[in-house]
Amino acid sequence: MKRRPLLAGNWKMHTTVIDACQLAAAIGKCSAGLADRDVLLAPPYTVLSEVAHVLQGSDVLIASQNVCWEAEGAFTGEISPTMIKSAGGTAAIIGHSERRQIFHEDHAIINKRVLGALAFGLIPVFCVGETLEEREGEKTFEILEEQLREGLAGVSLQDMGKTVVAYEPVWAIGTGKTASKEQAQEAHAFIRKLLAEMFEKNIADTVRILYGGSVKPDNVDELMAQTDIDGALVGGAALDADSFCRIINFI
Ligand code: PEP
Repeated sequence: MKRRPLLAGNWKMHTTVIDACQLAAAIGKCSAGLADRDVLLAPPYTVLSEVAHVLQGSDVLIASQNVCWEAEGAFTGEISPTMIKSAGGTAAIIGHSERRQIFHEDHAIINKRVLGALAFGLIPVFCVGETLEEREGEKTFEILEEQLREGLAGVSLQDMGKTVVAYEPVWAIGTGKTASKEQAQEAHAFIRKLLAEMFEKNIADTVRILYGGSVKPDNVDELMAQTDIDGALVGGAALDADSFCRIINFI
C-alpha cells in the first residue's frame, strides 16, 4: 500500500530565535511545491510561533517536541496541546528516547501524553526503539511490543489512523550509526504487523512509520526505498538546511 511520505526534523534543544527563523525559511523554500510528501518541523517551544509565522502559507507542518495531557493548570515546565495549537502546531513528538532515558518518562506518562494529544486534535509522532543492550540481547521485538502496547493503550481505531509511529533504535540516534536498511525494514514490518493485531489491518496499512537514527543525505534514499519505511525523523541533519533539504527531496 502506498502511504504519503513524511520527512520530519527534530531540532531538539537547538536554535535561538534568529537561527530558527533562518532555518525555517530555508526549509520552507526547498520544500515548496512538493505535492507528493509531507514535511514537518519540531522546533523548541520557545520558537514554535516564530517558525509557524515564517512558514505561514507553506505546507510545512509544525510539531512540538513533547506535550502535556491537560489544557492548562499547575504543571510547571510543561506545555499543553492548546498552547501548541495556538502557536501554530498540529502535531507533537511523544516518547522520544531522550525523554524516556534522560527524563525517565515511563509508559504510563507517555500513554497519557498520546491520549491527551489526540483528545485535543494533535497528531502524535509516537517514538519507540530499543537500546544497544536490548538489541544485542535479542530483545528488540519484545521491547518494541511493550512500548507499542503500553504507549498506545486506549487509542481508538479512528485516532490510530491519524497517529504516526517513529522507529528510532536508541543506538542509532546521534551516533552516526544508522540501522542497515534490512534492520530498519525488519523492525518496521514487525511494528506494522503488531499494529494490525492491536488495531485492524486496514489501520496498520495506513499508519506512517518513520525511521529515525542518523538519517543523512547519503542514506535516506535506500531507507525510503524499503516497503514499510514511510518517512524519516531526523535530528542532527535537520539543523543543516542543505542536508535536510536533500533528505526532503529523497529520490
Ligand atoms: C532524533 O532526534 O530523533 C534523531 C533520530 O537524531 P539523529 O538524526 O541525530 O540521529
